[in-house]
Amino acid sequence: MQLTPLPAFNDNYLWLWHNSSHAVVVDPGDGEVVMQALARLQLHLDAILVTHHHADHTGGVNLLRQATQAVVYGPAGENIPGPCVALSGGDHFDWQGQRIEVMDVPGHTAGHIAYFVPDPDTSPELAGGNGPVLFCGDTLFSGGCGRLFEGTAAQMLNSLDRLAALPGATRVCCAHEYTLSNLRFALAVEPANAELLAYHDRCLQLRAQNQPTLPSTLTQELAINPFLRSRQASVVQAVQQRSPSASDEVAVFAQLREWKNQF
Ligand SMILES: [Zn+2]
Ligand SMILES: [Zn+2]
Repeated sequence: MQLTPLPAFNDNYLWLWHNSSHAVVVDPGDGEVVMQALARLQLHLDAILVTHHHADHTGGVNLLRQATQAVVYGPAGENIPGPCVALSGGDHFDWQGQRIEVMDVPGHTAGHIAYFVPDPDTSPELAGGNGPVLFCGDTLFSGGCGRLFEGTAAQMLNSLDRLAALPGATRVCCAHEYTLSNLRFALAVEPANAELLAYHDRCLQLRAQNQPTLPSTLTQELAINPFLRSRQASVVQAVQQRSPSASDEVAVFAQLREWKNQF
């Protein structure tokens, strides 16, 4: 199986997960971009996985369904262009012998879900890396997390905690290339984090060559992402310098998110 990020709009990635003949696409905001990739790679689209209702994640669903008869999967708690297989946390389904698990990750939107593939086929001739695969939409970004449009800080912290508990080798397939701007903020929070400094250098080089910084890995994110590190002393101290009243972990996380909003 291979992971191919298709750039769309300013900074979206529409993730194509495929073998040599069949594909699924995650959050196809732009159907034409996906149709062009399917033609170029000679793939049949079997399924469309939607993480949440925002237009930049769903705008191409109807075009793709009509053109390919792909089955659409999406969150039960949100309004996705139907007909759609409605999913919630704990559900799972199979595609090409791969088990795909569903997690509830509210925060960015109220019904946001993520898709986790614990044991993807990594046959050598098709290897696109090793380790489980996570399609997390706008919940977790490299170096950051989604804005709280519909959920609370407590919900987002809980969602990120459950993502952080997945295996470290998990390949994190985020829906936006926000990495460099996230890392500028992360460096303001943790200026002495050596792994963060090294990762920032690597990502600068990748973007200078117009390469995606994704997928990241969970191990990498745990070392550099302030929103997965909000209980670390360095992050707590940085937040409390700006917001001395932030005492418990939810308040620290909420003030960290607010700091990023204003950064
Ligand atoms: Zn969104
Ligand atoms: Zn988005």
